[in-house]
Amino acid sequence: MIMMPCAAFAESRPATDYTAEANRSWYDTLDFSDESEKENALRGLIEAPESLIIYDEAGNVVWNVADYSFVNELETAPDTVNPSLWRNTQYNSYAGLFEVCDGIYQVRGYDMANATFIRTDNGWIVFDVLMCTQDMQAAKALMEKHFGELDIKAVLYSHSHIDHYGGILGLINREDAADPALTLAEQLASGKVVVLAPEGFLEHAVSENIYCNAAMSRRAMYQYGVLLEPGETGKMSIGIGLGQSIGNTGLIAPTYEIATDETIVIDGLEIQFQLTPGTEAPAEMNAYFPKYRGLWLAENCTG
Ligand SMILES: [Zn+2]
Repeated sequence: MIMMPCAAFAESRPATDYTAEANRSWYDTLDFSDESEKENALRGLIEAPESLIIYDEAGNVVWNVADYSFVNELETAPDTVNPSLWRNTQYNSYAGLFEVCDGIYQVRGYDMANATFIRTDNGWIVFDVLMCTQDMQAAKALMEKHFGELDIKAVLYSHSHIDHYGGILGLINREDAADPALTLAEQLASGKVVVLAPEGFLEHAVSENIYCNAAMSRRAMYQYGVLLEPGETGKMSIGIGLGQSIGNTGLIAPTYEIATDETIVIDGLEIQFQLTPGTEAPAEMNAYFPKYRGLWLAENCTG
């Protein structure tokens, strides 16, 4: 991550009359009495941490939901903030463990993206592993608090964006991964963790986040306002999540890439894959779980 210290001194200003009126006008345009999205955001909540701040080993803050608590103190947006963005920040600040259905659980609000845990006959599959090691460790700990030690059968990366694979080392160690030289059947039989991703994942993950890292990091600084403080005249949520975490990132290469719209059974759980290349990411896929009647659309839905 490339830091630009000068940006930390950017000056915050009140809204101009034009901005204040433009923001206010959204209350006439949209129905803010409709709170169904809030119900959706809170449905299935199992545990929400009192106050969520995640640190690295040196004591640096890598993820901070607590600093956004101000959004839940005001029902109406201040004149500096678009009311839809205010509401989006409120709903993105609901961090915790959620039950999607009996057998599918999500840790939300522990990073930009969510981690999804799906029960198999004897263990778990984890769909997407957040962006940094520290956040994924915290998400795993929250799951284990409720379900005991996780016996992880497989990890799936939905697509080649780093907020969906960068936290892998907070979930498993490199030596836990299956041997990619084996067939998928042999990997599954080996007792190691199979790491699945859509075809082209590794090529695109490397080209976007290593070859183009300097440009991508700089873009992220502007896109997400990484160095700004949360606040009415600072930064709010970023649409798909609360913000960008700044912990350690890593990558374990897929041990098997999904190359066709195939059906795979992992520890008794059937998964039907649908490749969606060139959509929200160059390499991406959807998945359907008949047992749970669960459809997982990666960021083809949210991105
Ligand atoms: Zn994405």
